Amino acid sequence: MRIVEQVAELQAASREWRRAGEAIGFVPTMGALHQGHLSLVRAAQAGGSRVIVSIFVNPLQFGPTEDLAAYPRPFDADREMLEREGVDILFHPSMGEMYPDGSATRVLPGPLADRLEGDRRRGHFIGVATVVARLFGAACADRAYFGQKDAQQVAVVRGMARDLAIPVEVVACPTVRETDGLAMSSRNGYLDAREREQALVIVQALAAVQALAGERAPVGELESAMNSVLAGADGVTADYAVVVDCRTFLPVEVADEFSLALVAARVGRARLIDNAAVLAADVLPFRIATTPGLPEVKNWNA
Ligand code: AMP
Repeated sequence: MRIVEQVAELQAASREWRRAGEAIGFVPTMGALHQGHLSLVRAAQAGGSRVIVSIFVNPLQFGPTEDLAAYPRPFDADREMLEREGVDILFHPSMGEMYPDGSATRVLPGPLADRLEGDRRRGHFIGVATVVARLFGAACADRAYFGQKDAQQVAVVRGMARDLAIPVEVVACPTVRETDGLAMSSRNGYLDAREREQALVIVQALAAVQALAGERAPVGELESAMNSVLAGADGVTADYAVVVDCRTFLPVEVADEFSLALVAARVGRARLIDNAAVLAADVLPFRIATTPGLPEVKNWNA
């Protein structure tokens, strides 16, 4: 695996592959890699392409009170994981390489970036769109792979690539979960054992929506069910628990195949997000009662 630190060197490598007729897949990350990230690498490889993975903790997408300083940076372990996966290039730029001379250009995404995560984390998606636009320019990939766990990010990035005519296909990949259902996240490492247990209520809230949606309950009831599951949990503070249209991130009145249930919640010092398609009963392999006495969460892989 080649480690590249300069944008120009990455562009040159891409040009060579392109000349040789090879397709290029790109996986942008902030490191602290887990199986969720590796699933994106494997999806890129399954497309038969050369694979570039970037690791860059992007200060621009963190708010002033967020966890930029604490964000994990286990670079050696990350590098070894990517080497084992057979990644072709690890792109690991410095801050100066990503923002030369403190570059002032910003990418302002459309209105869907002002909702939910964009509302709770002001400026977050400007930071995401700006860094991803530069990474796309550096990688010159045919396809870029993102996780559905960050559903609003996928929508923002897709809209940005379309609006700026960046010739890359944005591919969304399914959320990879721990065996008990918790969505994998670099921020799960902030949780102690008790908080790790408490965090499961996020998946239970999503499972509650799917169970009720299967019975054609109105959207208001789906959201109430999520909120009451979250409210019943110790140590968890819900930020939002809503059903939206996955194309606009606006509220929906009647659930359909585009309806997505989204949860953001604080557990200990972690802020976690997760989502599930409302009508896809198979997204979560278990269902829960919405009345008190939540059943045990079944083994995710069972
Ligand atoms: P991050 O390093 O958190 O910025 O994430 C890099 C990419 O990995 C993003 O496209 C995320 O959506 C994706 N990702 C993070 N967690 C998961 C997961 N559990 N399953 C699938 N993709 C994920």
